[in-house]
Amino acid sequence: MSEQPAKELPPVNHEMVTLARESRGLLQSQAAKLLGLYQGRLSKIESGLTSADEDIRRKLSAVLCYPPEFFSLKNSVFGPGTSEFFHRKLQSTPARKLRQIHAEINIRIIHIERLLRAIDIEKDNIPRIDLEERRWSVSDVARAVRATWNLPPGPVQTVVNSIEAAGGLVIPCKFDCVNIDALSRYIPGLPHLFFVDDSLLGDRLRMTLAHELGHAVLHRLPNPDMEDQAFQFAAEFLMPEKEIRPQFDQVTLAKLGTMKQVWKVSMAALLKRAGDLGKISPDMKRYLWTKMSKSGYRTREPAEFDVPIEEPRMLKQIIEVHQNDLGYGLGDLSKLLFLDKEEAQLKYNIVPSKTESKLRLRAI
Ligand SMILES: [Zn+2]
Repeated sequence: MSEQPAKELPPVNHEMVTLARESRGLLQSQAAKLLGLYQGRLSKIESGLTSADEDIRRKLSAVLCYPPEFFSLKNSVFGPGTSEFFHRKLQSTPARKLRQIHAEINIRIIHIERLLRAIDIEKDNIPRIDLEERRWSVSDVARAVRATWNLPPGPVQTVVNSIEAAGGLVIPCKFDCVNIDALSRYIPGLPHLFFVDDSLLGDRLRMTLAHELGHAVLHRLPNPDMEDQAFQFAAEFLMPEKEIRPQFDQVTLAKLGTMKQVWKVSMAALLKRAGDLGKISPDMKRYLWTKMSKSGYRTREPAEFDVPIEEPRMLKQIIEVHQNDLGYGLGDLSKLLFLDKEEAQLKYNIVPSKTESKLRLRAI
């Protein structure tokens, strides 16, 4: 990464320096130390007050592990977007971690924009519905989305496939942050993007995706009730009242466990739904809640009821089209994404194509 760039590159874009540094979770002072610069110098470079010469570009490339070309990119850097406007847990996330996640998302957006250049993707079919204009309830909206997508009654078989069939793109990421399960972004010209942490259990992945879908459908503009609305949307989308209500007779923990396997949502989500629909009394709900706590289910529900983890397919297919139809090897893909081979492979689960493996065998 530290070798001299072969051709003269366009000047360093200061925004990319900040993006690269933040994506590595470094404070400006830490990065300056690693670069052998005074923090003031780095600060001026990042603010665009001083330009970065080729020597600094080489150092940036070596320290922050992005190729020299990355620092010349002119891509827009996007802010958090509406879905995070009233996100409660984000308030308690350390600022550096949050900046790292936002930088990571911006870099992923650069990747996706580049990966989609060679691929014809249809406009997504995610409805955008204004509650006030239609005078609908949030549950009406969730039912409308299910109807638009022709989902059969009952449990949603796979949330990831439903979103991807409607043209959304689910991108597994490593947020490494207890406060953040998923974040979504609407960037004009790209499919609606759903970034999800790849360590989530199956039920949680479905719930967080349904919640982000709620934001995508309902919240072009933020409003103070948007978090509750996204949760209500997810509840009706995954557990439609009409079909689940009759199943909430005589709720016990064992019954919640059985229902979890059918509806593929957590026992906790089912218990909350039963309470919200008035199928169990507040006392009963409290009793079951306490029983779940005492059994340790609030931390980890029993493994025997685990919901299979849904695998996003679209991003995988986009990578495969590059490999199989466009002849991209791992080296080409890593160049396209401005990552070294190892990071490209890790981030996008790239399985070397057959021709690459053959070549490697021949080389040995
Ligand atoms: Zn939310």
